[in-house]
Amino acid sequence: MYILLMGPPGAGKGTQAAELVSKFAIPHISTGDMFRAAVKEQTELGKQAKACMDAGQLVPDSVTIGIVKERLAQDDCSKGFILDGFPRTLEQANALDQTLAELRINGSKVVNITVPTEELVARLTGRRICKGCGATFHVMFNPSQKGETCDKCGGELYQRADDNEETVTKRLTVYLDQTKPLIQYYQDKGIYTEIDGLQSIDKVLADIVTSLRGE
Ligand SMILES: [Zn+2]
Repeated sequence: MYILLMGPPGAGKGTQAAELVSKFAIPHISTGDMFRAAVKEQTELGKQAKACMDAGQLVPDSVTIGIVKERLAQDDCSKGFILDGFPRTLEQANALDQTLAELRINGSKVVNITVPTEELVARLTGRRICKGCGATFHVMFNPSQKGETCDKCGGELYQRADDNEETVTKRLTVYLDQTKPLIQYYQDKGIYTEIDGLQSIDKVLADIVTSLRGE
């Protein structure tokens, strides 16, 4: 199972990735984790990535692609993987195709968990964090029993500055604009499936599994 997992923030991608990891016993590879590992292990590419980040610059595609390639070449990826957060651009998608060909990996599938923007905004702006103990709540899905205070420690709950509606909407718009050409690219290759992320967690997972098995 070579899975490229797509989905906007708030679509439940992390939850589904965890489910897929235990179901298929394949690693979950997120670009964030890969970067941190490469920097920590001080690989050549890790050093280059760190230099860019320290300078406040975007890590160039060539470095990102190199790090992905190093990771996918490791033994634990031989039977499959869930790639999350990559590719983000057409250039990266092309480079990934080349990498997969070099590693003789065939049959990758793209799964995109989609959720209407209004619902994502509701999900992403509902998050509340406790000032006292750091517990996280959600006004819709996981409210504190005590309303506006933490039901664990009584601390005050607050909303992260970047969880407000304007910032969230902007973040989602950028994401959707960025991924549109990627969706087209994978649709043209016939390996793309869209999953309705408004369903229950179990139903989303069942749909993903069905699409991966090509049923
Ligand atoms: Zn608390």
